[in-house]
Amino acid sequence: MKTTRTIPSKMTKQLNVAPLTSSEPRLSSKIINFVEGARAITPGELEANNITRYRVTKFYREQIVNSGYYNQLKFIVEPSFEEFDGTGNLDTSGEHDNTVVPGFQHKYAQTGLLLATDRCAAYCRYCFRKRIVGKDSDEVAADLGQIARYVGNHPEMSNVLISGGDPFVLSTRRLHEILDHLLPFPHLNSIRFGTKAFAYAPKRFEDPTLMTLFRRIQDAGKAALIVTHFDHVGEISANAERNICSLRTQGVEFLNQSVLLAKVNDDPAILAETFGKCHQMGVRPYYLFQGRPVKGASHFQVSLRRGLEIVQGINQRLSGIQKTFKYIMSHYTGKIEILDLGADDRLYMRYHQNKAPEKIGKIFSRPYIESACWLDDLPGVGG
Ligand code: SF4
Repeated sequence: MKTTRTIPSKMTKQLNVAPLTSSEPRLSSKIINFVEGARAITPGELEANNITRYRVTKFYREQIVNSGYYNQLKFIVEPSFEEFDGTGNLDTSGEHDNTVVPGFQHKYAQTGLLLATDRCAAYCRYCFRKRIVGKDSDEVAADLGQIARYVGNHPEMSNVLISGGDPFVLSTRRLHEILDHLLPFPHLNSIRFGTKAFAYAPKRFEDPTLMTLFRRIQDAGKAALIVTHFDHVGEISANAERNICSLRTQGVEFLNQSVLLAKVNDDPAILAETFGKCHQMGVRPYYLFQGRPVKGASHFQVSLRRGLEIVQGINQRLSGIQKTFKYIMSHYTGKIEILDLGADDRLYMRYHQNKAPEKIGKIFSRPYIESACWLDDLPGVGG
């Protein structure tokens, strides 16, 4: 039987969690198992603090327990009292400002981003789209015709990333409908899906009708890509590996992105093993994202100094052909590759992507402040 634990008053004050004076839950409150202990919370408190809906698949729970890494991986899906910390914001990359049609963003000239759904198979506690996921958001694509008209009017766009939420919680029929509106454009040369379902629900990819979906993309003369989201080698199940292998034999290309997360994977040996495993499966490590200052998820951030030490440690452990990732800060101003901390105590960076093409590739620096986790923590302007 679960017991309700009272949080020490110092902690409740600091984290804005109302103290629980009785072991009985308050009216209309629900008991939630935070990593620090079970706690009664009302729906209003969850909403006021933008706490993401709680959901973990049975498959993922079993996988992380059996992986031997439960004490690290539980932080990915289990809520923490630290989520009541109100620092940070809910749109760290300026997605709202780059939305051109509801559910469609166009930040960089070549890439369109379609938010296909606000649902995921399970919810990551650090999600930078927590303003959307698990909610009934009006930021997801509703009018595909309107999106198609926008894409048709932008011949500079060469690829569309279908994301969300997780597009693979949608039916294959809905995914086909999305393709109906993208495949006719000859200027699109690839369709990419961003998904964590290979970690949370890899059985989804055993659906034989998905083969037709990817084949349609290829038959339209475009590359079909999937960007997996493995943060830790313990998330890579035998099912995931088998299904990736099967799709690769059908010509689907794979990349992986990870987020650098305190207490989860802030360890060069673990990330080197994760990237090595991805490489072995034919999944190219692509981005290692610096954790964003997301409201209620800033506790996942690792300092930029520590991040660079970890990246160096990863590179020391990988062969040349495995070092295919970039350490990236997905900032409001663009995707910034974090390069090095100089002997002059300045952090050196360069734009990997920027709305202004002349800024791409240009190295810039800022004075480093100890414990800084984000560009905005460093003094100076521009880049
Ligand atoms: S699967 Fe992706 S979109 Fe969904 S909660 Fe996790 S990070 Fe966010």
